[in-house]
Amino acid sequence: MLAAIITLGLLAAVFGLVLGYAAIRFKVEGDPLADKINAILPQTQCGQCGYPGCRPYAEAIAKGEADINQCAPGGEAGIVKLADLLGRDPKPLSEAHGQVKPKMLAVIDEATCIGCTLCIQACPVDAILGAAKQLHTVIASECTGCELCVAPCPVDCITMEPVKKNIREWTWSFPEPPQEEPVLPKGAHG
Ligand code: SF4
Ligand code: SF4
Repeated sequence: MLAAIITLGLLAAVFGLVLGYAAIRFKVEGDPLADKINAILPQTQCGQCGYPGCRPYAEAIAKGEADINQCAPGGEAGIVKLADLLGRDPKPLSEAHGQVKPKMLAVIDEATCIGCTLCIQACPVDAILGAAKQLHTVIASECTGCELCVAPCPVDCITMEPVKKNIREWTWSFPEPPQEEPVLPKGAHG
């Protein structure tokens, strides 16, 4: 009996050592900068930045492969935070990646919904509740306003409604670029 306890104890000690060594030796180093960038991104996973989700975009910015102005849902506030983090000048959202829009929420007209579940499949953040042939509804607190559910709906019963900005989301908008001085023809000055 004692021999069995000692054997088991030794085995446990050996396994513990092996696991400890493996945890140190094969530790996957996360990219702390990509982590910080990803924490700023809105986690809509909508792909408007050109990357298959917020994390891949964060890693591309951290590697210098992507610019800080490609995230439309993050808007100007997101660009300013990224610029602050990376010590760069903020810039307007790149037109190739959408437009800065007021925060929106998806709303399903439950009377029209036919319960086809296509919107559930399209939603990257599981913000829609429903079941086949049953009505569907959007969990407002989960919806990021990415609009990915609108196009697949066969009866067009999903609309995007603007959300009032609260004090935490309010930002100064970017100053208008300086107007070009009109070039007057020679001798036009009075
Ligand atoms: S409900 Fe629609 S708009 Fe909201 S997060 Fe899901 S797919 Fe995007
Ligand atoms: S896609 Fe449209 S019809 Fe289908 S379940 Fe969603 S809201 Fe209803």
